[in-house]
Amino acid sequence: MYIFINNKFYSEKDANISVFDHGFLYGDGIFETLRTYNGKVFKIDEHLERLFHSAKLVELKIPLTKSQLKKAIISTIKKNKLKEAYIRLTISRGKGKLRYSIESNPNVVIIAKPFIKYPKNIHEKGVSVITYNAERVLPEVKSTSCMPLVLAKSEAAKKGCFDAILVDRSGFVTEGTVSNVFLVKNNVIYTPKENILQGITRGIVIKIAKKIAKISETKIKKQKIHSFDECFLTNTSVEIVPVNKVDNKIIKNSPGMLTKKIMEGFKREVKNYYAKNN
Ligand code: PLP
Repeated sequence: MYIFINNKFYSEKDANISVFDHGFLYGDGIFETLRTYNGKVFKIDEHLERLFHSAKLVELKIPLTKSQLKKAIISTIKKNKLKEAYIRLTISRGKGKLRYSIESNPNVVIIAKPFIKYPKNIHEKGVSVITYNAERVLPEVKSTSCMPLVLAKSEAAKKGCFDAILVDRSGFVTEGTVSNVFLVKNNVIYTPKENILQGITRGIVIKIAKKIAKISETKIKKQKIHSFDECFLTNTSVEIVPVNKVDNKIIKNSPGMLTKKIMEGFKREVKNYYAKNN
């Protein structure tokens, strides 16, 4: 595996970052995860747009332009001879003194590895999740400070679940550890609006949803989850995954009609994207 660090490629063994990097010392960095379909990165412009938005919110100056980053991502995929790839782009605050500071000397790291397909049945049958009380700091930022998410995911794994849905201190559902959450009832698709990452997949799903049902971006109380008929999570890698159980209790009709329609709509969106971007 070849890793891109600040415009050079390194073997895995030689790909090192300073122990004084504030990404390591303070979890001070931002990132994006992207994927390819058939060798080409899906929605690369949208991911880079969000990266620059994150950077702005945390006062981090990215040392490369969007078009340089785009080229870097594509050359990392090529260098690793990948067709179906999972890509992790990280920008850390960089090397600094042993104190909090936004003075930066950012490191740009791109790791591309083979995309590991999810088992088919998770999309066909759905997955179980838990709820977990945790909040992300600066939720609009895709930040490398992931401690609550690591703990939430580990708790889910201990209970044999696919993921955890995060619940904030006021008892409202926000998002999954790496996904956005949708719930369906009476032909209306609901999704939390605040204290979330603006998922790229979420944006696509909302566009599709508007064509086939009503969509409501709103607050959702944890206690209401089981009053919904369908539930699903969205994320770049897993796309759309139906949720059939939350905290070991069944969601009545999940995967249901609307979830399936959204999944079909998403497949079409992927096809259209490549038809336009070839
Ligand atoms: N919410 C969080 C906290 C995430 O980390 C992610 C993706 O990793 C998402 C939502 C979904 O975003 P996307 O659809 O852009 O992958």
